[in-house]
Amino acid sequence: VQGSREFHPEDTVIRTKHSIIGGDNFTMMAGPCSVESEEHIAKMAAVAKANGATILRGGAFKPRTSPYSFQGLGEDGLKFMRKAADEYHMDMLTEVMDDEHVKMVAKYTDIFQIGARNMQNFSLLKTVGKTNIPVMLKRGMSATVDDVLNASEYIAAGGNHNIMIVERGIRTFDNKYTRNTLDVGVVPVLQKLTHYPVIIDPSHASGHTEFVTPLALAGVAAGASGLVVEIHDDPEHAFSDGPQALKPNEFKDLSDKAFAIRELL
Ligand code: PEP
Ligand code: MN
Repeated sequence: VQGSREFHPEDTVIRTKHSIIGGDNFTMMAGPCSVESEEHIAKMAAVAKANGATILRGGAFKPRTSPYSFQGLGEDGLKFMRKAADEYHMDMLTEVMDDEHVKMVAKYTDIFQIGARNMQNFSLLKTVGKTNIPVMLKRGMSATVDDVLNASEYIAAGGNHNIMIVERGIRTFDNKYTRNTLDVGVVPVLQKLTHYPVIIDPSHASGHTEFVTPLALAGVAAGASGLVVEIHDDPEHAFSDGPQALKPNEFKDLSDKAFAIRELL
C-alpha cells in the first residue's frame, strides 16, 4: 500500500509554486466557499494572503445538496480565480466534481480538491491520479479511516503521490448544533498510518462562524499540517456557506492564534 507509513516512513512533502505542505511545515489555505465574481475572489485573495494564507480556496463547481442552489460559475470562475491567485502570488485550490472536467480544471488550478461527496467516486480518483497535479482529498461525511485511506490509494495507484487528506467533520448521532462532528482524533491516527499531510477544515465541520476558530485551533494543536478555512466579507449575502464564513477580522484572529499554537509544538 503506497500510502502506508510502512511502505514509505518519511512524511510526504508537497511543493507547489508558493507553498510547502507537510513535514515540519504549516500551511494556511483560505477563501470563499464559492467563486462569486472576478472582483470578489480578488478581494478575498487579498484578505487570505494578508493573514498568512499561501493557498486560495474557492469553488467554481459546487456540489450543492439541492439542484436548485447556486451551482458555481464554472470555467469563468476558474479564470477569475486563476487571475486572483496570480495577482496575490498564491496557489489555487478548487474542486473538480466530474471526470470530464479534470482536463479543463487542470488548465487553471495548482491543486485539485476532491469533495467529501466524491471521496469514493473511483473513476474521478483514477483520473486525477493520472495527472501530476497535487490532490486535496476530503474525507466523506460517513467514511471510516480505512475508507479514506483506500480512496487515497486510488489516486496513488495512478502514479500521483502528491496527496493530502482533509478531515472536514463526519456525521454522528448529534449534529444538531454543529453541521458535522470534527474528528480531531483522526489527525494523529492518520499520521500514524500514512505519510500524507493531514489538513483540518473547521468550516464544514462546524457550520457556524462562532465554532470555526475553536475547532481550527484544536486541529492545529493535534498536529495538523494545515487549515483550509472559508472566509467572506459579507457572509449574509454569500452565494454558499455564509453561516460558516469568517469575516476578515475573524480570520485574522484565527490565523494569529493558529500560527502561535503551531510554534509551541
Ligand atoms: C467545500 O469545500 O466548499 C465543500 C463543498 O466541502 P465538502 O466537500 O467537505 O462538503
Ligand atoms: Mn463550502
